[in-house]
Amino acid sequence: MRIVPCGAAGEVTGSAYLVETGKSRVLVDCGMFQGAGATEKRNADLGPIDPARLDAVVLTHAHLDHTGRLPLLTARGFRGSVYCTPATEDFTRIILLDSAHIQESDAERANRKRPHDRPVVPLYTRADVDKLNPLFEPTPLKKVITVAPGVQVMFREAGHILGSTSIDMMIDGGPTIAFSGDLGPLNSPILNDYDPPLKADIVFQESTYGGREHRPLAETVAEFRGILRDAVAQNKKLLIPAFAIGRSQQVIYHIAEAVRDGVIPPLPIYLDSPMAVEATQCYGKHRNLFDAEAKAHEASEDLKPTLDRLEFVRSPDESRALNELSGPMVIIAGSGMCDGGRIVHHLRNNIDKPNTAVVIVGYQSAGSLGQRIALGAKRVRILGRELNVRASVHTIGGFSGHAGQKDLMKWAERLAAGKPRWYLTHGEDDARTALMLLLEERFGLRVRLPRLYDNIEF
Ligand SMILES: [Zn+2]
Repeated sequence: MRIVPCGAAGEVTGSAYLVETGKSRVLVDCGMFQGAGATEKRNADLGPIDPARLDAVVLTHAHLDHTGRLPLLTARGFRGSVYCTPATEDFTRIILLDSAHIQESDAERANRKRPHDRPVVPLYTRADVDKLNPLFEPTPLKKVITVAPGVQVMFREAGHILGSTSIDMMIDGGPTIAFSGDLGPLNSPILNDYDPPLKADIVFQESTYGGREHRPLAETVAEFRGILRDAVAQNKKLLIPAFAIGRSQQVIYHIAEAVRDGVIPPLPIYLDSPMAVEATQCYGKHRNLFDAEAKAHEASEDLKPTLDRLEFVRSPDESRALNELSGPMVIIAGSGMCDGGRIVHHLRNNIDKPNTAVVIVGYQSAGSLGQRIALGAKRVRILGRELNVRASVHTIGGFSGHAGQKDLMKWAERLAAGKPRWYLTHGEDDARTALMLLLEERFGLRVRLPRLYDNIEF
């Protein structure tokens, strides 16, 4: 048998592993390449994956860099099953419809600009996403299931986003393989901690933050509370750019706890993103996955004063109407890096006003508007208008959906005792090299750093 990494080998996006045995072909994740150099051509190239001959796809979680090329499979003849947790199925549908919509509108815009060139075709359409609906096989955690002849899998909690998993894959008469998926930091709000596999012959572990440690969450939360307290005391409008799934809900949770603890009085919170609204409703549907603390909040209703004032903003008109309101209030809107979505018009209408606070709570890629604001630009150009930045700008670095080095090592500890073959993926080369050295030194493992389309044979 062989395993071929078809993405996220020496980088953090495009996760996909092709597992081929004598009898079957299974894909673990089918992610999109994103960020610098992620061309449409690169995403369109599936390498050794032949969709029509695949038996099944198994998903660790819903993020686009783990699911974003799935509709390409259906567009090219895949008719097998897609196995994942029920929460991952729901979030994947939300994320892929959004992705298809972006690709359809990008193609449409390009064709309008150059009507005489050869028409640009979107990578895939919402119709390709809909073709996935009958293929999903929602599967609970900790249940062993057969996904293809001679291939069984079991999902375990990964603590990264709601529904996220690591995968134990058992090959008939062959090895047991552990795929970590993306791993969350221990003690994340709302989520249960990861549940590391006990034993495997082969391990594929993510290494996004293999080279560094995060600041403790408690310090980050204390800093966030300080910003909230000052901004609310000055009746400011707080603008928080945030990703729709995961970060938006975490921010709401921390605000609600601050209200409960008397740090700030209850105030209106506007969740201004149709995708985040849908995702938040999915959280309600999958509350069985919440950790003990989040379940205790539900039972005691101590966060209710805030959650009752949470406003779901759906239409663009409702979003524009927020311009007429004054603070104190919180607007959470996408996109997380301010490069699109409704946060853009809020920034354009408010960033030059001193009664605005912009709070950056997530990663900002190089060249994004969010990064320019976070770096303290005095003037920014937004939607064609030059604006002086008079809002206070706050950057909070400690919220992370990924385990830092210490938690990655803790996940590995028990598995490492059996001295399996160990491969690091889903990390830039310096991050995975740092983790490799640490794993080798502490656990006496021999760790390998595979490249794209390497043939890993057993
Ligand atoms: Zn992820």
